Amino acid sequence: MPILTRMLPSPLVVEVRRGAVADVAQALRDRHVSASGAVVVAVGPSQGEAIWESIRDSLPDAVPFEVRDASLATAARLQEAMAGRGYDAVVGIGGGRTLDVAKYAATRAGVPMVAVATNLAHDGLCSPVASLQHAHGKGSYGVAMPLAVFVDLDYVATAPRGLVTAGVGDVVSNLSAVADWWLAHDVRGEPVDGLASALARNAAEAVLRREDGVEDDDFLVTLAEALVLSGMAMSVAGSSRPCSGACHEILHAVDQLYPGTSNHGELAGVGALFATYLRGDTTLLGELRRCLTRHGLATTPEALGLTEQQFVAAVLAAPQTRPDRYTVLEHLALDEAGAAAAVAGFLADAG
Ligand SMILES: [Zn+2]
Repeated sequence: MPILTRMLPSPLVVEVRRGAVADVAQALRDRHVSASGAVVVAVGPSQGEAIWESIRDSLPDAVPFEVRDASLATAARLQEAMAGRGYDAVVGIGGGRTLDVAKYAATRAGVPMVAVATNLAHDGLCSPVASLQHAHGKGSYGVAMPLAVFVDLDYVATAPRGLVTAGVGDVVSNLSAVADWWLAHDVRGEPVDGLASALARNAAEAVLRREDGVEDDDFLVTLAEALVLSGMAMSVAGSSRPCSGACHEILHAVDQLYPGTSNHGELAGVGALFATYLRGDTTLLGELRRCLTRHGLATTPEALGLTEQQFVAAVLAAPQTRPDRYTVLEHLALDEAGAAAAVAGFLADAG
């Protein structure tokens, strides 16, 4: 009988629990990634040394690699380090930047990558995309999925609060991104992938109305799983479409115009609010606003440290950040006066 289904690339292992970093050597053996532990362990600059010290005795054949920045150059250096001898895998332990560099280098070196996330700042931990700096800005690069994804709740629980709540902003922005996708479907006939849309939307719904927060392990597990499902949605779609619409165009514009304003997830949350306002979906707007507020995330440009004029400039620049993506911004094609009026209306609505 023919198998009339599609095969989905996905990690072989997804585990969200305490103690994942401490058990990484055992996991590499159990999952047949590396029997001898001959791996390159990529760690970030902040917690990297402590993480390496805590596992080096269990991985005598491993070598550490410090990821100082999320750049193509750093990823190339990691790839070069892989060539030193026949390493079995790259193990990335840390936040999004470290994991992105590890994913890219492992893909280029043709070896598996194991992701051990220590915060939940965005949906990159299990996505087929790496976001890296190059000489002229920032690019998104297609990479292989991690072979295994571990989220260590011991580290997540002690990570700076903003690096965990940020994940909430990124995952609930899926609802705005999928709405943009359907808009592109209705207006331009762009096909919507039903499975990718289901994964992205349900990931967001799982988090949207919860009353508990990042202090609770139950919430952290749900958030981590939602971020993994978002990565799967992108893998199924073959693009970031289900998790990135006008919300992310605005965040990329803010990043370009006013670098360092806030983290990815918090910006995605505000971008999603504004895009949802533009689409006139007052019910979702209210729910998103309540959710972001509950987790202490910004809901206005002012809370991000941006003036009204700066946000208008970001809205105007946003479509250029993803020229091939049709969202409510491309749909409305706001000119300067239109963008200013829309932002003023959004701020009045936010009260
Ligand atoms: Zn995102």
